[in-house]
Amino acid sequence: MKILVAVKRVVDYNVKIRVKSDNTGVDIANVKMSMNPFDEIAVEEAVRLKEAGIATEIVVVSAGTTQCQETLRTALAIGADRAILVEADAELQPLAVAKILKALVEKEQAQIVILGKQAIDDDSNQTGQMLASLLDVPQATFASKVVVADGKVSVTREVDGGLETISLVLPAVITTDLRLNEPRYVTLPNIMKSKKKTLEITKPEDLGVDIAPRLKTIKVEEPPKRSAGVMVADVAALVDKLKNEAKVI
Ligand code: AMP
Repeated sequence: MKILVAVKRVVDYNVKIRVKSDNTGVDIANVKMSMNPFDEIAVEEAVRLKEAGIATEIVVVSAGTTQCQETLRTALAIGADRAILVEADAELQPLAVAKILKALVEKEQAQIVILGKQAIDDDSNQTGQMLASLLDVPQATFASKVVVADGKVSVTREVDGGLETISLVLPAVITTDLRLNEPRYVTLPNIMKSKKKTLEITKPEDLGVDIAPRLKTIKVEEPPKRSAGVMVADVAALVDKLKNEAKVI
């Protein structure tokens, strides 16, 4: 069974992001970039399925600039077998990425597609859902447990009221939540090995995908600074402030 995993290169989660002075977006010049944390979990889960003898091959895909090769090499060092970079310098919105992934899932005949539940840069939480819809296959988002057996996948999902377990026929799309697993550390020997693995480069037009943006960003701004809090003497003073100043009770 082949598994396809989507990995996005994003600003590292430890970086305090800055908005560009012309308010057109986030400044990523000279900023540390890494694999989206939810995608690391996705790669780890695929590698565990391979180690368990369920998956036979793991193909990782990233869409974006040539620097995404670094992200793909990290995925190969975690344990993926092969990588595909869909190179594009233009901004890629979730629908464009979903169309690119659809073309590759069909070409590769992958049975399971694993994505992160969201990319921590745009926080869209859309690509997996759009991909499942375009492929017309079942989806299980926010997975915290994945069990593959008898041509089906059983996924425990984190939902508002707790946990829900659903069973999907394959092929299917899964998006990862934080508690699914803890990704392993990438070791130096595995980094060395990853350099020898195949990394194919293609372009959206080679896949017949139109990546023209459908959404326009009008303005990006920092959130307003929070004003300092005040200490109140007792509960009565708190209630008084909530009633008469904040007027929330
Ligand atoms: P989003 O819908 O943008 O929040 O992204 C959800 C997931 O889709 C990510 O965690 C990735 O697995 C995948 N994804 C989004 N954009 C890309 C991209 N440019 N290349 C590869 N995978 C992506």
